[in-house]
Amino acid sequence: MIVIKGIAASPGISIGKAYVVEDDDIVVERVEVPRDKVREEVTRFKSAQKATLRDLDAAEQKVLKVLGKQHAKLIDAHRMILKDSLITSDVPKRIVAEGVNAEFALSEALEAVNRQFEKMDDEFFRERRHDLFDVGKRLLLHLMKRQKRSLAEIDHECILISRNLLPSDTMGLKETKIIGFATDLGGKTSHTAILAQSLEIPAVVGLSDVSRRIKTGDMVILDGEQGMVIIAPGPETIAKYEKVQQRSVAEEKSLEALKGLPTVTLDGRGFRLEANLDSPEELKNVSALQPDGIGLFRTEYLFLNRTDAPGEEEQSKAYASVVKAMDGREVVIRTADIGGDRLSQLGIEGPKNETNPFMGLRGVRLFLRHLDLFKTQLRAILRASTKGKVRVMIPMVSSVGEVLAARRLLEQAQAELAAEGVELKEEIELGIMVEIPSAAIQIDSFLPHVDFLSIGTNDLIQYVLAVDRINEHVTHLYDPYHPAVVRLLDHVVRTAHGKGKWVGVCGEMTSDPRAVPLLVGLGVDAMSVSPRMFLRVKQAVRGLRYEAMKKIVAKAVTCAESDEIRRLLEQNP
Ligand code: PEP
Ligand code: MG
Repeated sequence: MIVIKGIAASPGISIGKAYVVEDDDIVVERVEVPRDKVREEVTRFKSAQKATLRDLDAAEQKVLKVLGKQHAKLIDAHRMILKDSLITSDVPKRIVAEGVNAEFALSEALEAVNRQFEKMDDEFFRERRHDLFDVGKRLLLHLMKRQKRSLAEIDHECILISRNLLPSDTMGLKETKIIGFATDLGGKTSHTAILAQSLEIPAVVGLSDVSRRIKTGDMVILDGEQGMVIIAPGPETIAKYEKVQQRSVAEEKSLEALKGLPTVTLDGRGFRLEANLDSPEELKNVSALQPDGIGLFRTEYLFLNRTDAPGEEEQSKAYASVVKAMDGREVVIRTADIGGDRLSQLGIEGPKNETNPFMGLRGVRLFLRHLDLFKTQLRAILRASTKGKVRVMIPMVSSVGEVLAARRLLEQAQAELAAEGVELKEEIELGIMVEIPSAAIQIDSFLPHVDFLSIGTNDLIQYVLAVDRINEHVTHLYDPYHPAVVRLLDHVVRTAHGKGKWVGVCGEMTSDPRAVPLLVGLGVDAMSVSPRMFLRVKQAVRGLRYEAMKKIVAKAVTCAESDEIRRLLEQNP
């Protein structure tokens, strides 16, 4: 039995026979093209480009059907690459200047860009290289008149093992018999990983040489939770993993019974349990969970993977679809938190080449530099608010002046819409994310200016502890149970309640059933949870006693070390 550790890209466990796919071994040869034939060569290249565009159109239809609009944007990104001057002008220039065949000119151009990508520190951008090669490979196959390898031809259930898996391959996986995949290359934020999560296919990536160590037909276990591949497991290990698989299926089933039940502790303290929403495509799944509302609607998806900002109409339609679907239940729409690791290509001044993007022009800071973008989004939110119950939330607030500026802009947007004859129902509530330590420490100064608070623990923890939330070298220091974090949370909740203000929590901490006793004991009003963990969190709350948790938190805020806090929470009387 051999265990190889990689990166957990998509959760779940698969047990089965491996199917190793070789890379489409494309060998590109340099062929001299006589002067009088270079024009023909350029035309041949342009025909391949058109054929690739047709491929992308067909792929788009497939993605729209299987995965929805959000993922179809990946095809747009591929179209952009195909239309980039790197392809449209650099390759023909190389053909003409060097007198070489189109295949060679293209592979040289791709290699030049690859070298640029490799120099980038940002993992997100390094990963985009795979999109470039995906498009490049489609083009090469057209030039060579070869068919792209089709995974749909695999006619038996198996776990796919390969050096790399391109996003275009991943998209089709749901229609195949593949029950999981493992690759040598790849990172957690690659499109391949993101697609695998949406398709709910377990995946482990970044395994360095797994494709050489496994042969087709080998028995393997793919553990997408731990990021491990086990080759030739013994009968005991298989039995153990089968039990884990069965348990999680049974658990999922029993959780179904909790839908629609109140989120209330054993001693009767109720909590609002809401869902986080990252795009309207998730709405169907989220609605089925019957949450009390959407506690965090992240709107960044509208601004990413495009070069023009979304207009008021497009935005208000998107928000209205969510508000309507929630049918009178509250939707907290957060204005876009662009910056940090969510880099836009909108061409606006700011979040490019920052040395320290998480400390840079992000969230409300960026929008206060681009008031047109900010106002457009506020107007769109206000228009959608006529369809149900909406609150506005501002991210990355670090000083009271930012809230006052946001409020002024909101009032301006309201006045403009009223002058245009748009009837707005009532005053819309304005709240802030508490995710920067300055706001948390000085929360009393913010309270007179806001209607509600939502604690963003993802960022609050990284800023309180000075631990970059996406840096794998310091993940062991990213600690939600650190006494400084726990004390700060307690301070925010107590101060806000003292002034009669409502406090929610919407960071990933709400989605960890082990942290739920702490949030219950702190007495927060609402928890907004990632949809996958929603019912598990409800189950956790329903098994706790509020009064007992309050006592535990009273002890936790006196602890010096996070291990003591963990132990206290595990006691869970
Ligand atoms: C947070 O910081 O906790 C949060 C919910 O916001 P995001 O993860 O979008 O930064
Ligand atoms: Mg945040």
